[in-house]
Amino acid sequence: MSSRPVSSKPVSSRGTSSKRVSSRRAPRQPAPAAAAGQTGLRRLPSVEQVLQTGPGVAAVERFGRQAAVGAVRAALAQARAERATSDDAADFGTRAIARLEAEAAPRLRPVFNLTGTVLHTNLGRALIADAAVEAATAAMRQAVALEFDLESGGRGERDDHLRGLLCELTGAEDATVVNNNAAAVLLALNTFAKGKEAVVSRGELIEIGGAFRMPDIMARAGARLVEVGTTNRTHRKDYTGALGPRTGLILKVHTSNYRIEGFTREVSARELAEIARGHGVPLINDLGSGTLIDLTRFGMGHEPTVAEAVAEGADLVTFSGDKLLGGPQAGFIVGRKDLIAKINRNPMKRALRVDKVRLAMLEATLKLYRDPDRLAQRLPTLRLLSRGKRDIVASAHRLLPALAARLGGRFRVEVCDCVSQIGSGSLPAETLPSAGLAIAPPAARGGGRALAALAAALRALPVPVIGRIENQRLVLDLRCLEDEAGLLASFAAISLPDPAA
Ligand SMILES: *Cc1c(COP(=O)(O)O)cnc(C)c1O
Repeated sequence: MSSRPVSSKPVSSRGTSSKRVSSRRAPRQPAPAAAAGQTGLRRLPSVEQVLQTGPGVAAVERFGRQAAVGAVRAALAQARAERATSDDAADFGTRAIARLEAEAAPRLRPVFNLTGTVLHTNLGRALIADAAVEAATAAMRQAVALEFDLESGGRGERDDHLRGLLCELTGAEDATVVNNNAAAVLLALNTFAKGKEAVVSRGELIEIGGAFRMPDIMARAGARLVEVGTTNRTHRKDYTGALGPRTGLILKVHTSNYRIEGFTREVSARELAEIARGHGVPLINDLGSGTLIDLTRFGMGHEPTVAEAVAEGADLVTFSGDKLLGGPQAGFIVGRKDLIAKINRNPMKRALRVDKVRLAMLEATLKLYRDPDRLAQRLPTLRLLSRGKRDIVASAHRLLPALAARLGGRFRVEVCDCVSQIGSGSLPAETLPSAGLAIAPPAARGGGRALAALAAALRALPVPVIGRIENQRLVLDLRCLEDEAGLLASFAAISLPDPAA
């Protein structure tokens, strides 16, 4: 499946690749292949001969001499390793070009996300709005007044470009932005709880994908974690009992990727804000996804908005840029002016800051929120999340004949109902009715292998198609498909493994 080129290091024809060091200085044994390799070698053209052929000249012309020489060497080495013999120098030039082309293709490949998960962390989360792409391109090509005050001609602040918008959209006094929300949480904890205690409910000690576990982040921030309450129930007295002279802050964490249901009790953010204020420590509310608008107007469940969290009295609220907000990777901290000022004085802020390109994208993305009526058209995340099922079914019917024809009776293809997910831990219990194409093997026996082979063939396409296997079917959820023509073109390139093999 992989089109990754083989290492361009020449393959040794002797068995010297092992790095084991022997203490007894045994004489080096020639590998059995060596003799055959020597004779095969004589029957291969030289690098110079290959470079003088038409394809060899073309390879130098297109990719430069150094890369071309490397690719020709690699092609010859591969032939040697396979004990192939050939004196067709031009053929090695052609192989070198194929190698160079594969190497030139971007390693970060665009794919069709037909997994049904709109904000798929492993597929790059939110797609960027056109306005933000344009803003990024302009910022990349030109010098920008990033930290330069055009009015006074003096130094400006990087955060100036977003502060006004963020305050307008969240009702907060002040705002800052860093690399991602994990960084926002780390920075806030480090600023207010380094060498002190951070109080958190046991029901909120989240892990978001192995690398982000609240207790670990606490430790790295230099804060001592004080867990209060139990997994399912935490009361006011649990918090008040834990507060003391060493308390640096109270942290509330949105349980993004799970729900605790049944016999539960949590202390509301409003009540926590009052407790924190009474004790003179800040309440930090990590919202995770943090939407800027009420999603119920787009037919989804209610997710607390950043403005609500601010209004409930949290001193600081942290949230992601590339989850429900639909922008590039970023982490926002909004809230009290004095606290944001303290965060900005933390040297760690400098290590976590964002560059001009992302700032340009964030500014353009946030500006779209000023016109909520057109947001669902302009912001891809919301456009995909709010897409109606009927529209998706129609797309499935248009695509069905081409896919069925391409799979030529080796699989059954039909339009199916399925459910999409928001993803990235946003509204985990929420599913969106969707539709797609379900591909089933003709027989249950050996069907699993046939499906896995088909899934692999789809991943091997020039623009890989990523679906999900569910109930012995490969389901292509079409919610996130906007380029139907592109997918049709991809279908035409499907190459199934030989069923006899
Ligand atoms: C996703 C999430 C984070 C991490 O945010 P990133 O932007 O992925 O770094 C932190 N806290 C919560 C509650 C989250 O849901």
